[in-house]
Amino acid sequence: MDKVILIKYGELTTKKGNRNFFVSTLKKNIKNKLKNFDVEIINDLSRMYIYFKEKDLKKIINIIDHIFGIHMYHIATIADTNVDSIFEVCLNSLMDLSFKSFKVETKRSDKSFEFDSPTFSKMLGGHILKNIDGISVDVHQPDLLVYVEIRKGQSYLYFDTYHGLGGYPVGSQPRGLLMLSGGIDSPVSGYLALKRGIKVDAVYFEAIPHTSLDARNKVIELVRKLSKYTDSIHLHIVNFTPIQERIYQCCDSSYVITIMRRMMYRIMEKLCQKNQAFAIINGESIGQVASQTLTSMNVINEVTSMPVIRPVSCMDKLEIIELAKKIDTYETSILPYEDCCTVFVPKHPVINPNLDHAIKMESKFNYEEMIKEAVDSIYTLKIYEEDQEFSNLL
Ligand code: ATP
Ligand code: MG
Repeated sequence: MDKVILIKYGELTTKKGNRNFFVSTLKKNIKNKLKNFDVEIINDLSRMYIYFKEKDLKKIINIIDHIFGIHMYHIATIADTNVDSIFEVCLNSLMDLSFKSFKVETKRSDKSFEFDSPTFSKMLGGHILKNIDGISVDVHQPDLLVYVEIRKGQSYLYFDTYHGLGGYPVGSQPRGLLMLSGGIDSPVSGYLALKRGIKVDAVYFEAIPHTSLDARNKVIELVRKLSKYTDSIHLHIVNFTPIQERIYQCCDSSYVITIMRRMMYRIMEKLCQKNQAFAIINGESIGQVASQTLTSMNVINEVTSMPVIRPVSCMDKLEIIELAKKIDTYETSILPYEDCCTVFVPKHPVINPNLDHAIKMESKFNYEEMIKEAVDSIYTLKIYEEDQEFSNLL
């Protein structure tokens, strides 16, 4: 029996003017992710059809379940658009299923088909009753819903609906740079930004020898896990050691984190310009730590005019953890390697920093020069989900 995965876009279709662009971006993403399979992908403005080889079904579904922009899908059996073919294909498909009651729902988009939807539902229901013993029609709470979509040339029959990830296809927005620290929050933020269609690349600030290579490998592994939701992700690794040590020497210890984060944002802005990125994305969550109070965010945010997107800013930690588990980054995030923020964290970080005071402390060293050097010496990796050498690092 010929089968097809029938994809419905959902949220995409509310953006009327952009529909073509969204659909073609989604199609490109699906094609790319299924490039190693023998599939044919066809679409119109409301549906996408993936024709596949039965043996690949499980693997293909696993991939489809990680692509943004898919609202729901069905695994449908194909019939020719005529009564006999639909009747026959329907009975054959029902043979393997066990149910006591059923209901038929028909959607006729081929208006040249001779019967309207309610009439055809009744006809098909009668045919099923006649051919399968011990079952009845139940329009309120059926065990099984038999869906029929009648379209020009081919019709589709299916019994189940599966939910996709939703969101917009990655690449329907331009690039954004994610500050990825190796903690729990920032990978979740990356996932949520990808869900809005942003092409996410990542930036990791490291402070070797104060932070370890294990900490770097952990971030690489997180990127690998996130890239399951997109094609590949560039990871830019910044050598933050000289700046961090200088901050430690020059600034009041309670302001170390504030100044450090101002420096990070300055570097992020330069990296955005260099990489045609239109937003900084990070894992800040309001009130979680001293540097994430609204006052702190103001003082830190003051160094850049770029949009700073904080997808988890209003989520509870438990909600963030739940999502981290769902996207499979949690177990990696809780590995105990210190990152540069935790290594240098003071006993009493300022909760309500003063902007003038922060500026005064920064003026004690030539940070512009150091920032330029950090940006010029960046090391970049391009990471794919299937990169086994990275997954073996930990
Ligand atoms: P996370 O769980 O993501 O580490 P956190 O609650 O520990 O977040 P902070 O350490 O204060 O929070 O950092 C807030 C955000 O700043 C992080 O979510 C991340 O986006 C960014 N960030 C912090 N440290 C780094 C780093 N070393 N490299 C890149 N980004 C960083
Ligand atoms: Mg952290």
